[in-house]
Amino acid sequence: MNRITAFQPGETALLQGNEAIARGVLEGGAVFCAAYPGNPSSEILETLAECSKDLPMYVEWSTNEKVALEAATAASFAGCRAMVSMKQNGVNVASDFLTNLTLSGTKAGIVLISCDDPSGISSTNEEDARLFARMTDIPLLEPATPQEALEMTRWAFELSEKISNVVMLRSVSRLSHTRSCVQVGALPSLDTRPWFDPGQAFHTFPVVAKHAGRHRKLEEAARLFESSPFNAYEGPENPELLVISSGCAWSYASEARDLLGLGERVAVLKLGTTWPLPAEFIARQLERSKRILFAEDIDPFVEDSVKALAADLGSRIGVREFFGKTSGHIPACGELTPAHLMDVLGSLFEIDWLDETYRHKVAALIGDSLPLREFGFCPGCPHRGSYYAVKKALVWDGRNGFVSGDIGCYTMGIWPTGFNQVKSVHAMGSGIGLACGYGKLTSLGFDQPVVTVCGDSTFFHAGLPGLVNAKFNQADILLLILDNSATAMTGFQPHPGTGRTAMGNPTEPVDVEALCRSLGITVAVADPYRMEETAQTLYGLMQQEGPRVLILRRKCALVQGREGGFPFRMRVDQETCLGEACGCNRYCTRVFRCPGLVWDEKEQKSTIDEVICVGCGICADICPQGAIIRERK
Ligand code: SF4
Ligand code: SF4
Repeated sequence: MNRITAFQPGETALLQGNEAIARGVLEGGAVFCAAYPGNPSSEILETLAECSKDLPMYVEWSTNEKVALEAATAASFAGCRAMVSMKQNGVNVASDFLTNLTLSGTKAGIVLISCDDPSGISSTNEEDARLFARMTDIPLLEPATPQEALEMTRWAFELSEKISNVVMLRSVSRLSHTRSCVQVGALPSLDTRPWFDPGQAFHTFPVVAKHAGRHRKLEEAARLFESSPFNAYEGPENPELLVISSGCAWSYASEARDLLGLGERVAVLKLGTTWPLPAEFIARQLERSKRILFAEDIDPFVEDSVKALAADLGSRIGVREFFGKTSGHIPACGELTPAHLMDVLGSLFEIDWLDETYRHKVAALIGDSLPLREFGFCPGCPHRGSYYAVKKALVWDGRNGFVSGDIGCYTMGIWPTGFNQVKSVHAMGSGIGLACGYGKLTSLGFDQPVVTVCGDSTFFHAGLPGLVNAKFNQADILLLILDNSATAMTGFQPHPGTGRTAMGNPTEPVDVEALCRSLGITVAVADPYRMEETAQTLYGLMQQEGPRVLILRRKCALVQGREGGFPFRMRVDQETCLGEACGCNRYCTRVFRCPGLVWDEKEQKSTIDEVICVGCGICADICPQGAIIRERK
């Protein structure tokens, strides 16, 4: 039995935030769960996929977030509760369907979980997906703790059914990946039989009437939020400062207030229902204090809404002084931390929190900082070989070619680990779309070769339409599909090419090569471990016109490691290695930079770190002296 299904009602469990959300999904009675992997959301569906072995439910990794939301919505239309989870970028992908779905309305409870990533720790942006709740008029819940994540998720299904619309729950990386003790509730029986009532239709017409209906649903949610237990005030009756917080920022604000000994002067409001605002509840809190500080992650979402409300309430509450992202008291970008709250409370109450009195308290809480690490491909990563070949082919070509990048492990091609080859990265599949544009600029005199890279999972997610566009418009593009048979960046979730589903069932894999060939375009396959050969194939394809695909096929090094490992034992011949005098400026450790190759300061020679090197063998080809030796185990 899965860990999270094994807990009995009332039992306390140590759960990760995403596991608490998954337990809330089960307690909420959802029987259909769909997602596309993306940090920091991936563990939600992974956990539910495990649960599907014990419970009568369906779980899938969909090809992208829009498809995931559509599939989950079908379950709602057929009377079954459903959940869809994604990271913030995924909400953009799903938003086309979402903006229409929220007009048509839903039937059984459906909850969209967005896990946002302040500071873009594992993302290409730090977008605030809460804005989609405001844009599409759907209720938004923001848990502050794993316990609340479970309870809010469970209740979100009820709310969704009450208003016949989607409910959004927003987590952030810090909450999704933190662990704390959570008291679980009961698991309901999951015996709903799906049935679509042909007498009921779900569409957006007449649009204006449906839009008005969506507003009425939002008003109903606001009414329910007025008495929600997820909103809580803590502090003196009339504080000198009221902190209005949402999500994790509640704990940062509470911690900062307590550390600075401001419990008698500062109150903290934990706002869990952040859209629509419970206006009367907020009005009563605004009456308590003349000074208001906002604490929330990413955009001033609550701040803007509360300020607009305060303007409406002007004659009742009078003038209030606001501090937050707009005033510059809270950083406008980057993940919020307790230190930020210490800073702002310190400045507002004239407390030097960096002096000795507080420093030891803070040090006791945070411990030692971790050393900084450079982004880099794993030892044996085939992407290192792919970018090496790209670099070489572009140099041979000599026309100032470059790489249009995409999202996945290979995004790291923007850094030295990928020889800085990638010059643009935006959204899933965008590298190919951009390449289509460059490929048509040739008619205006553009003569630089453009190589675009895309992983296998990204290709299925959003790359295919770009390639079809290239074929349709005969764009000059050379697409490299870095097929490592895994959604590696997010934790090896299955995708259409892997041959198994989220629930572990075998399925016929979609053949990337056959799919590309079916478009009638030139397709070649190469092995990125054979760097020289691959560079030559690449160079040859670069000289051709029209859409071309090169599939660089080699298993992710971590997958290979699990499936029996690599065949080689490596060593650097210390007699042959010339060190700094080798004539290539220590190409092995300065440019190729596999972490398995290290510089021995004492000997002034390169050497192999046997703990880190996995034995892929490719670095043997890069030393001009032939000092890196590859031996079969
Ligand atoms: S291993 Fe080869 S490339 Fe590296 S320092 Fe020695 S001679 Fe130079
Ligand atoms: S063989 Fe070379 S490239 Fe491969 S993991 Fe070891 S050091 Fe890195």
